[in-house]
Amino acid sequence: MAAYKRVLLKLSGEALMGDDAFGINPKTIERMVAEIKEIADMGVQIAIVIGGGNIFRGMTGGAAGMDRATADYMGMMATIMNALALQDAMKQAGVEARVQSALRIDQVVEPYIRPRAMRHLEEGKIVIFAAGTGNPFFTTDTAAALRGVEIGAEVVLKATKVDGIYSADPKKDVNATRYTTVSFDEAISKDLKVMDATAFALCRDQKMPIRVFSIVKEGALKRIVQGSDEGTLVHL
Ligand code: UDP
Repeated sequence: MAAYKRVLLKLSGEALMGDDAFGINPKTIERMVAEIKEIADMGVQIAIVIGGGNIFRGMTGGAAGMDRATADYMGMMATIMNALALQDAMKQAGVEARVQSALRIDQVVEPYIRPRAMRHLEEGKIVIFAAGTGNPFFTTDTAAALRGVEIGAEVVLKATKVDGIYSADPKKDVNATRYTTVSFDEAISKDLKVMDATAFALCRDQKMPIRVFSIVKEGALKRIVQGSDEGTLVHL
């Protein structure tokens, strides 16, 4: 039995990279698709917001002297590449997925149309949202919060390489402890890095819980939709 009917899964670009230094690792994407398929087979409706950091980040371009908005558009295009790779891997695994892009690129993918996205989900297709919010100076975390609220998801599942939110950076501090749950207010007052501030504020205002979990841990996604409390839940 699934604990959720509809979820928004945020996959960072880095999640597709595996142990590589750049780009998309075929084995990693294959495993991720298998895990996503498992929860789709349980009847969970899944929308995915995919990042682009494994290919290009606007902030990096900006720091190197590029016009920031231009660099951000490049970053959004990177997310479209990842979305296509993910859709293709899903097709090969027999999973039906549709990419919808916040930037128009009509020959390649359909544009973001909310009612159509909802219909896909109701039909059991996975929807992959590409190009973030379609606006520079935002992130795909904000897109995840935004699309999650728009489609009426019950939770944003933020897949990271760390298994939750810690009191300090676990790589640097041996005394760092993981929170099982944390409230939005506590996360703000303790300055815990969950998502960027815009994404976080939107989730808080719209009462959208966020579960941060490790995508590296096999089977985590399935356990979570079955109601396991692994990772960290950010709640009201
Ligand atoms: N981006 C943007 N607007 C958005 C979403 C993303 O400009 O609404 C750009 C931004 O430059 C960002 C890049 O796309 O650095 C890739 O997205 P992100 O860094 O969020 O990817 P992730 O860290 O999840 O891989």
